[in-house]
Amino acid sequence: ERFPVVVVGAGPAGLTVANILRAASVDCLVLETESRRFIEQRPRAGVLEEWAVRALERHGLAANLLERAGRHTTCEFRFDGVGHRFPYTDLTGHHHFVYPQPLLVTDLVREYADVRGGEIRFGVRDVTLHDTDTDRPSVSYLCPETGRRRVIHCDFVAGCDGARGVSRSALVPERARIARHDYGIGWLALLAEAPPSSDCVLFGVHPRGFAGHMARSADVTRYYLQCPPGDDPENWPHERVWAELRQRLAAADAPPLTEGRLLEQRVLDMHDYVVEPMASGRLFLAGDAAHLTAPIAAKGMNLALHDAFLLGDALAAYMTGGDEGGLAGYSAACLRRVWDYQEFSQWLSDVYHGTASGDPFHAGTTLARLRRLFTSPAAAAAFAEQYLGAAGHF
Ligand code: FAD
Repeated sequence: ERFPVVVVGAGPAGLTVANILRAASVDCLVLETESRRFIEQRPRAGVLEEWAVRALERHGLAANLLERAGRHTTCEFRFDGVGHRFPYTDLTGHHHFVYPQPLLVTDLVREYADVRGGEIRFGVRDVTLHDTDTDRPSVSYLCPETGRRRVIHCDFVAGCDGARGVSRSALVPERARIARHDYGIGWLALLAEAPPSSDCVLFGVHPRGFAGHMARSADVTRYYLQCPPGDDPENWPHERVWAELRQRLAAADAPPLTEGRLLEQRVLDMHDYVVEPMASGRLFLAGDAAHLTAPIAAKGMNLALHDAFLLGDALAAYMTGGDEGGLAGYSAACLRRVWDYQEFSQWLSDVYHGTASGDPFHAGTTLARLRRLFTSPAAAAAFAEQYLGAAGHF
């Protein structure tokens, strides 16, 4: 079997690449280890930056999103028992869109497979990349129905299989470097069956540890609690979770949190990595396969989409017109934004976790940074630009 492009992984990155290729009449095959039902329900991210939504719109992929997504215009830092609202849309004219990742994935699958007639093979096993450093690469997998290995020959492989995928390991080790950073911090990621407790995102910067609150929908809210890395979610029964959230998100005059059943409870160890370069031969990585940013600044899905727009457009330009420029510049163009967002995440991590570090000096500088956001217009403008991911994109 032969397809011009094989896309490994049907997450936001892979599905966006595949949609762009179909729109340019370039045939491709998407391989996904999970089922359609599973990927359409996997809860994860929920905040999309405005430039990313505009780019989805330009590619005809944002109709549902624009109709249904909420808008975020303000965030609130809670520290020293007081809530400090940061109305970034008033400062910049730009906002965030709130659209849960499973809804975006559902839209992208439907558009690619049901509207644009693209092919996805779900439930594939043991995906293996071959000869990606030659001009005759191929991808093989075990077919779930027959148990037999099938080989797909192609011109290009788009490695979009996320942090736990196999594509990254097919890069030639002498030519690719992986830079890693470990924050030494865990976050208990929670989904609560409860309406949001505030009209905006809340960041609790507390000596007991960071706490976050992010609306996902009218009935579901994401909360985060800083915890030791590798902590067992079993250590966090319902009562303990809500008691900590109440303390860490406390602010004078704030209404009490709306509590509810916990639907998901996972410990995330905060770490980052970046693969450089993101391409080798005929293999191009996109999204979490190439770089992970801890969910500190809610950047991962946005970066995955940024890569996907560049890769989809570059592959389409090459396959339809022989233009090699996009592919040649792909890795460098992605990495500029990746490093910019990594730096911001690191800065924000210091703010979130500084007062709980046990180091009074670090706690003092953290509070100084926070106060500066509310007293210096220049500091506020710089934060708003990075928080919105705006630089150079509007
Ligand atoms: P993925 O979404 O991981 O997709 C990869 C796909 O490949 C998956 O469907 C997987 O099943 C499949 N796959 C894996 N291995 C193989 C294989 N060997 N062969 C074939 N297929 C394979 N980002 C934000 O921007 N904002 C947020 O608010 C935010 N919050 C988050 C909260 C949590 C709890 C988590 C875990 C992440 C969060 N992120 C957030 C990050 C965001 O979810 C990811 O960055 C995003 O999913 C990356 O998209 P992707 O397409 O690169 O990878």
